[in-house]
This record gives sequence, C-alpha cells and structure tokens, in this order.
Amino acid sequence: MTTSAAAESFTVQRAESAPAPSLPPFGHFINGAFVAPGSGAVSEVENPATEEFLMRVPAGSVEDVDAAVAAAVAAKAEWAQTTPAERSAVLLRIADLIEGNREELEALEAANTGKPEAVAEDDISSAIDTFRFSAGATRAFTALGAGDYAKGHTSVVYREPVGVVGVITPWNYPLLMAAWKIAPILGAGNTLVLKPSEQTPLTTLKLAELIAGEVPAGVLNIVTGTGRVVGQRLSEHPDVDLVAITGSVGSGEKVAATAAATVKRVHLELGGKAPVVVFGDADLEAAARGVRSAGFWNAGQECGAACRVLVHESVAADFTELLVREVAAITVGSPGTGAEMGSMISAAHHRRVLAALDGIRAEGLTVAVGGHALEGPGYFIEPTVVTDVPPGAGIVRNEIFGPVVSVETFSTDEEAVARANETVYGLAASVWTADAARSLSIPRRLDFGTVWVNSHLVIATEAPWGGFKGSGYGRDLSLYALEDFSRTKHVMYSHGR
Ligand code: NAD
Repeated sequence: MTTSAAAESFTVQRAESAPAPSLPPFGHFINGAFVAPGSGAVSEVENPATEEFLMRVPAGSVEDVDAAVAAAVAAKAEWAQTTPAERSAVLLRIADLIEGNREELEALEAANTGKPEAVAEDDISSAIDTFRFSAGATRAFTALGAGDYAKGHTSVVYREPVGVVGVITPWNYPLLMAAWKIAPILGAGNTLVLKPSEQTPLTTLKLAELIAGEVPAGVLNIVTGTGRVVGQRLSEHPDVDLVAITGSVGSGEKVAATAAATVKRVHLELGGKAPVVVFGDADLEAAARGVRSAGFWNAGQECGAACRVLVHESVAADFTELLVREVAAITVGSPGTGAEMGSMISAAHHRRVLAALDGIRAEGLTVAVGGHALEGPGYFIEPTVVTDVPPGAGIVRNEIFGPVVSVETFSTDEEAVARANETVYGLAASVWTADAARSLSIPRRLDFGTVWVNSHLVIATEAPWGGFKGSGYGRDLSLYALEDFSRTKHVMYSHGR
C-alpha cells in the first residue's frame, strides 16, 4: 500500500522557562504524616521532557512497607465502622481539595511525565470525577435484599470491606490511576497502602499532603520505591488482604504468583493492544481522526490506545492516506507549548520504543510517517504509522506503549473478528461502521472488556473499565469497582427459638 502524504519532519517545541512545580514533602506518608524512610536509600525523579532533576524520593524498604501496613491494620476497624455517608463526605472533600489545587497538580503531573497540559487537565478532571462518583456510589451500594430464601430462615447479606488493600500504580496516569483505586477502596470501607511508580510518585505524594487532614491517620498510606522491593512486599505481606496492580502483564503475573502464597485476593489491570476494526462502510475521516486522537493520546502510553488498525481491503488505501495526513499534522513538544504530544516517560522507555521501531524496520514493514527519535533534551519520538503489516507480525502481537500505530487489512467480517481476537490481550477494541447490524453483532464477538462503536478511548466513570485474558480481571470505575474491593457475608437467622 502506498500513500501520497509524504512523511513530515517533526520538531520538538520547547516551553519558555516554565515556573518550578510545587513539590511534595520528602518521605513516605504513613499514619497521617510524612515520615523519614528507614534507610537512606533514595531514587531521583526527573522531568522527562527536559531531563532536569525534580526531587529525590525514598527508595522504600520492606521495613517501610511493614510500618505502613501496621498503620493500615490499626486504622481498619474504625474506618470500616464509619457509615457510607461519613465515608462519602470524606471522598467529596478529597474531590474538592483536588479541584481547589488543580493547577498545581496539573503542573506537577506534566513536569513528572512530560505530558501535554491538555492531557494533565483531563487526568485531574477525571480524578475529581472519580472521587465524586465514588462518594455517591458508596451510599447507593446495595446487596441482595434480606429475605426468607430457605424455609424458616431469614438471610441477610452484608457488604463488608476486604480489609487492608495494597495498591501498585503505573506511570502513565499517575494521579488518575491512584484515584481509580483510592476512591472505591476507601468508599467500600478499606484502608490501603499505595506504591506509586518509581518514575512518577510526585502527584500521589502531593495528594497525600493535600488531604492529610481529611482522612483519619492510617487509612491512606503511601510508600515509594521499586516494584521489586515495595511491590513485592505488598504482594506477600500476610496482613494485606487484597493486592491491586495496574501495570504490565509481566508485573501482574509476578504479583498474582506471590499473592497466591497467602491466598490473598488480586485485582489486575494490565496491558493492552487495542484493535481498531474499520469496515468498508465506515466514515473513514472520522475513523482517521479517532485513531489520531486515541492512538497518540499521552504519546500512545495508554493501555487502551488505538494502536492496531484492521481495515477492510476495499478502503485500506483511502483510510491509510487519511490517517497518515492526520498523524503528520501532530505537533510534538514539552508541556506548556500547546503541542499535542509529549515525551516518553523515561530514557529506558525511550530506548524500548526505539528498539521496537528497529524491529519493525528489520521485519521490512513500511514506515509511512515518523519512526525516529527526536532531538533532546527530552525523550521524544515521532508519531509513527506503520503500514503493509502482515498477520502475526511482531508489531501486532506486542504492546509497544508508544506513539506507534500499525495498519493491517482484512477481507471478510469473519476474518476481522478472528484477527482482532488473535491477541493475548483483552482490554479494549473499537469498531467503525455505519451498518446497524454490524454495530450490534461485531462488538458481541470481540473478546475485550470495552468495545467502542465509532469512537475510541472515551471513558465514563459510571461504566466498568477492565480486561479479559492477559489484560487481567479487575474492574475499575463504576459500582463494579466497589464490588471488587468488598466482600459479601451471609448471616442466616433461624425462625425457631
Ligand atoms: P510496570 O508493570 O513496569 O509497573 C507498574 C507498577 O508495578 C509499578 O509501580 C512498578 O514498580 C510495579 N512493579 C513492577 N514489578 C513488580 C513486581 N514484581 N511486584 C510488584 N510490583 C511491581 O508498568 P508501567 O511500565 O509502570 O506501566 C505500563 C503498563 O501498565 C502497560 O503494560 C500498560 O498497558 C499498563 N496499564 C494498564 C492499565 C489498565 O487499566 N489496564 C492502565 C494503565 C497502564
């Protein structure tokens, strides 16, 4: 397939000196206060768009995790006995505090991730909405009605908190992924210990600073550090009742295997490789715009990114031309420039994405636009479209988690469904069609936790988010998250004396 739109050359727009972000205090947040770590080990956090040093944070130890878990255990009985209305009020105050400090949080998130201000604004708005939704849901959370289901006996089903929840979050949406966990976990009456990504702990620590006076001591604890030490300890700790991770499939597998030794519950939100199925009858311009926005949002560092297009062969040339034109118009730059796309999160991830691009060239695939690193400082990569991709190519199977979209073709509806499902992932997919029958039947046959029709990457806080297959089995957002972070207890009363 050839395209007439020639590859553009991208340049990185640089912000004039941005004001320094407001940084959180140094330390773990344990039992309601920032505390010095047990050891002097630290890690450095940088701004990936400038490679400038931001601050040091503790590289937490097993002892730090144990102290945080002890605080969460001590706080759990009292917090579990609060009423839904009381917990809801706390969640609403957290939402108000995030909203009241949103500019500070947006600037800090952008500085720590290199994401455009529009993405940081969306992250913080969504975090606020998550707390507000969970505040309402906490009060409207129901179980089976009490009743005489067995003769001569009355059943009452309680919804109880699980207890202490360990949470491990990724770097792509640091505060938002923390909010997706903290809000339903607290709403359901649990206490928690959260480990942010070692690359992006700053907004999570800032949140703790902002809300320290609103949440009782020990209910919410933050320990920074690596997955290998802090994440591992949370997964194995005998007093942690459930461990929830948002991250890669490999990390999820390790957490689940470790958690098995103490038979603790596991909540997994893992990677994705979302197919975008474009039928011959689709509005091709809308589909191309949709892939531009959903494939390159957050520089493609997005578990639901529209990264794998399957387009009907009859419209493949037209669609590809439109897509290449859209992607060639993407602007790249540091936060504060108004550019559409920012940097990769780190030097290591920059290297990983570039290695994937080398692999694509080695496979002899066509890079229709982009395909290279951009000049530093900062870990920027060109927005990239790869065409003429055969079934089973590496780019189709592996999550790149960068600004790279591939285009394959198909001949029949059967083939489209089979090829879309031919992946270890099952997080999200989209279908683009103007045909009513197809819009009903195809989503039902796709093995993904979210399927959009004529759209991609639109999230509703009321609707569940989570995957199938290798993408894990937890549900974030919606009432289902409260369900995941609670347990049922059946108490049965005999009518006899
Ligand atoms: P990652 O797996 O490298 O790290 C995620 C978190 O897990 C980090 O806090 C890390 O320190 C921790 N971790 C790593 N190894 C661990 C271990 N052995 N035990 C315990 N914790 C461990 O992922 P990442 O690079 O930060 O994030 C990108 C990945 O996250 C992608 O695969 C992406 O698809 C996925 N993700 C999924 C969703 C979703 O909702 N399904 C959302 C965002 C990101």
